[in-house]
Amino acid sequence: MSDDDFRPAQMIKERLQDRLRSEGALSVAAYMAEALFHPMAGFYATKDPLGAANDFITAPEISQMFGELLGLWAAECWMQMGAPSRFELIELGPGTGRMMSDMLRAGRAAPGFLDAVHVTLVEASPALKMVQGQTLANAPVPVHWAKDFEKTPSGPAVVIGNEFLDCLPIRQAVRHQGQWRERVVTLHPEDQDRFVFGLGPMLSDSDIGYIAPALRKSEDGALVELRPGDQQQMEQLANRFKRDPGYALFVDYGSAKPETGDTLQAIRAHQKVDPLDAPGTADLTAWVDFDRLLRLGLDAGLAAFGPMTQGEFLTELGIEQRAAVLSKSVDESGQARLKRQMHRLVSPEDMGELFKLAAFSSDGLPPAPGIAPFSR
Ligand code: SAH
Repeated sequence: MSDDDFRPAQMIKERLQDRLRSEGALSVAAYMAEALFHPMAGFYATKDPLGAANDFITAPEISQMFGELLGLWAAECWMQMGAPSRFELIELGPGTGRMMSDMLRAGRAAPGFLDAVHVTLVEASPALKMVQGQTLANAPVPVHWAKDFEKTPSGPAVVIGNEFLDCLPIRQAVRHQGQWRERVVTLHPEDQDRFVFGLGPMLSDSDIGYIAPALRKSEDGALVELRPGDQQQMEQLANRFKRDPGYALFVDYGSAKPETGDTLQAIRAHQKVDPLDAPGTADLTAWVDFDRLLRLGLDAGLAAFGPMTQGEFLTELGIEQRAAVLSKSVDESGQARLKRQMHRLVSPEDMGELFKLAAFSSDGLPPAPGIAPFSR
């Protein structure tokens, strides 16, 4: 760990230890929320973790083509809504702002799009908000920020989130003697300097509602993940899309069907590390369950599309053609770089298959472009 990391890391560790001494145990969600979003010492609060030189790299940081193709997708959605003269382009968890910058550049191709678009970035981290402001300083339209989705301006909208759902705090539960018990974080009984997992209280019936129905009767020892944040996001989206027309797209890594197993993962400087080691210094994420997400969307009253793999989607949107166009204005090494980028985004061995998408819309709009309706 560098000296830079030392003080926030110590601060967050002590805060968690204090909470654990007074509260005994914390849910995985409470631990994740502290580690990621503590306003002074949390992972997202203290630094810009994105990019090749930092902790992890995401699709928009790999290639401009990712944001450009999503920009064309957003423009298509806008046209399908009848090209309203003002519409909201809302990005959830915009990271460095690069994806929005690429989307807006691509949006120039759709006449009238930039005149109509009003951009809002939903960002919890003050540090990343600053980075976004720098990245988008020369954007073709002004950008605005909102602290949460509910505070975004009303009106027809396209909502996009790449690697947003994976950092919403999850809870975990373990099947123990035929009952579901919350998996908790506690202090190691002999070494109060270390955090360990343990078994906490039994889940209530309403908590069990967060477990995918197919997994509710799992064998003893099975671990399941509860994603209350996904449910809340789907409900908020449905409320909005009942009032005003809209499309939404979520891209993330995860499974197409509900699965048991621990997917909580910590990444520091591109390495997997122990999620309980040095909280606040590593990114904590968990897999999205796309089947569950889509069902929650349908249940909330949205039209739902997907799941589809990132590889198929980008191919459908024309990544090969885009790479060919960009290749014309660069030298051989630039062309090789574009090829590598495309390969990383679409090939099944890389991000193409693990990363998936789900789209949603107001009922009654034409189907989301490029992605087939979800069938239960
Ligand atoms: N979309 C970007 C960044 C992904 S990292 C990319 O693909 O590169 C996750 C992003 O979501 C960060 O910007 C993080 O600060 C933000 N974030 C996580 N939880 C949030 C929440 N509850 N509200 C708003 N932003 C959140």
